[in-house]
Amino acid sequence: MDISANTIKDKARAYLPEMIELQRDLTAIPALAPENGGEGEERKAQYLSTYVEKEALGDVKWFNAPDDRVPCGYRPNLLVYVPGKNSKKSLTIVSHMDVVPPGNLNLWHHDPFDLVVKEDRIIGRGVEDNQQGIVCSLHALKILKDLDIRPATDVKLIFVSDEETGSKRGLQYLIREHRELFKKEDLILVPDYGNEDGTMIEVAEKSIIWVRIAIKGEQCHASVPHKGKNTLRATAYFIVESEKLKTIFPANDPMFRPSSSTFEPTKKEANVENINTIPGEDIFYFDCRVLPQYPLESVIESFREVANKIENDFGVKVDISTRMCDQAAPPTPKNSPVVLKIKEAVRALRKLEAKACGIGGVTVAAYLRKAGLEVAVWQTITKTAHQPNEYCLLENMVKDTEVMAYLMVGAT
Ligand SMILES: [Zn+2]
Repeated sequence: MDISANTIKDKARAYLPEMIELQRDLTAIPALAPENGGEGEERKAQYLSTYVEKEALGDVKWFNAPDDRVPCGYRPNLLVYVPGKNSKKSLTIVSHMDVVPPGNLNLWHHDPFDLVVKEDRIIGRGVEDNQQGIVCSLHALKILKDLDIRPATDVKLIFVSDEETGSKRGLQYLIREHRELFKKEDLILVPDYGNEDGTMIEVAEKSIIWVRIAIKGEQCHASVPHKGKNTLRATAYFIVESEKLKTIFPANDPMFRPSSSTFEPTKKEANVENINTIPGEDIFYFDCRVLPQYPLESVIESFREVANKIENDFGVKVDISTRMCDQAAPPTPKNSPVVLKIKEAVRALRKLEAKACGIGGVTVAAYLRKAGLEVAVWQTITKTAHQPNEYCLLENMVKDTEVMAYLMVGAT
């Protein structure tokens, strides 16, 4: 590479005030999905599109996924395209424009959509999830433009909609309708998860299954329990019995944290209102994060076996259904070019060794991986996404911009 890491670093730091202002403008446009009572991402996309044109950062193309629930009738997905020396492949950075609702406003110290700069951070809904990705990737482009450097390969910044509510009109739409945007040999980075120092590169995910268990018994007065069938007791035994799933699916993979599959009882729906009634129906849920090698059908089967035992022991009826059943995508290899390039950038700029890891959640990278593409999920974050008083450290913005610029300059 002709330019030094230090040149990139100086440039990135000089852009901090501008990054904060861009974050302020983006935060003021609450891009909420209709499911969350919002009007979608159109205004935010319009703002970004105008911004890119005004700054002459690249060509903007809109890919609108129809959605008649929002005023404009579509959910926008933007492509910012910059041709590189080698146009056979791209460095593609995918961020999302939508944000989650602020939640309980009493927990915020100020208006969530009015950015606050405080000491080492900026606070507001969306600043970390996922405006940090948008702002850093745009400023990485600015650095290249300033230095008059043509990127090594094409650069594609993709700003998608609908990430927080299932991606059907976001990344899933792009992969289905505009598959040509993504090529097998592209380096694809999704800056939407990571750790505090940027040493975690997510390459694999666990499968997720949400199981709904409905137990039907017979309600009666609590003073004569023999006249009914107490479903809360059956529920308690069901939960204890299901501990054995851990031994049925014992695999351990140190790339993941936690390293094994998890089967957690979570939500319990309300049953009876008064204390002196024996409940005749109980409904509760499990959130399971399963290592990718296990087919989720076998997890459902194991729950069914637990259900059979509980039905026999308590004379109740157990109904099992799923609320989410998402088999993990094939992992991106640890030595995939995009992983190696990020490692190289983190080493050069931060003198740190980044590592490929697996996580329990699902990011949008899964859709790309299922489409046969290699993707690294990486950024430097404090993990305040979706929380009240969500914040983004100024230092993280500067440092992630450096890494993205480094990748643009040198990733061939
Ligand atoms: Zn996100």
